[in-house]
Amino acid sequence: MNNPFRFIIFLSLASLFGSFLSAESIKVLLVDGQNNHNWKATTPVLKQALESAGRFSVTVSTSPARNGSKDDWAQWNPKFGSFDVTLSNYNGQTWPESVQKGLEDYVKGGGAFVVVHAANNSFSGWLEYNRMIGLGGWGGRTEKNGPYLYFDDSSKLVRDPRPGRGGSHGAQHEFTVKLRQKEHPIVKGMPSEWKHAKDELYDSLRGPADKVEVIATAYSSKSKRHEPIIMTISYGKGRVFHTPMGHADYSMRCVGFQDVLRRGTEWAVTGKVTQALSKEFPSADKTLSVSSK
Ligand code: ZN
Repeated sequence: MNNPFRFIIFLSLASLFGSFLSAESIKVLLVDGQNNHNWKATTPVLKQALESAGRFSVTVSTSPARNGSKDDWAQWNPKFGSFDVTLSNYNGQTWPESVQKGLEDYVKGGGAFVVVHAANNSFSGWLEYNRMIGLGGWGGRTEKNGPYLYFDDSSKLVRDPRPGRGGSHGAQHEFTVKLRQKEHPIVKGMPSEWKHAKDELYDSLRGPADKVEVIATAYSSKSKRHEPIIMTISYGKGRVFHTPMGHADYSMRCVGFQDVLRRGTEWAVTGKVTQALSKEFPSADKTLSVSSK
């Protein structure tokens, strides 16, 4: 074999290997540290769900605890810009202004943000955060924070400004996820209705609700509305993926939740989805979960 030919083979292999590596390397910054949920149990499930796909590497940044000192907070300075996407599993004290500004600038400038369950309870008084996540609950949210957003029985998307508190849920149960945009890359190929594992079904979320796409809903017998359950939000040049699913580790072990998480996270970074659905998937009347090992 002559040298130029060998060199060409080397180049082809190197470029193959390079594209394999770059396809593997979505860098996720997972932020936790405070939550009215068991974040110490759910963060590992989120991390495992992402990393098992072979497409992500997850770094966890844990904030100071609620009794953290001023010094602890001064030292907590997540480097949003060093990652492809930030995933929030945080619901707690308001971040220092520099950290808030860091997230705002990062997403506004074209970054990616992922919001899971109670992360949408956080920061009711931080307007830009609420614009990023579209809708939120609790924390004293009312009509002042923006409208309710839901589908009515005739499949019409309603922005409802009526007065009332934002955020509510009934008892945990298995519920049906109904696709509203079947061709959206995050859900493409999923059954048009599938049964999600036991979870809290958030209802009556409200917020600025600007540039929100509702990809899927779930019917709440409490609010009597079809509540947004998979959403995307456009914020500045950035993309946000938001799911109110994920109350507990067992909710997050739903195969549907994990596919939505992986695809939603990839979509937030690239605007596309390359990951296939799991081979087995929940059906309209049967949940399916991955094992807890
Ligand atoms: Zn919950």
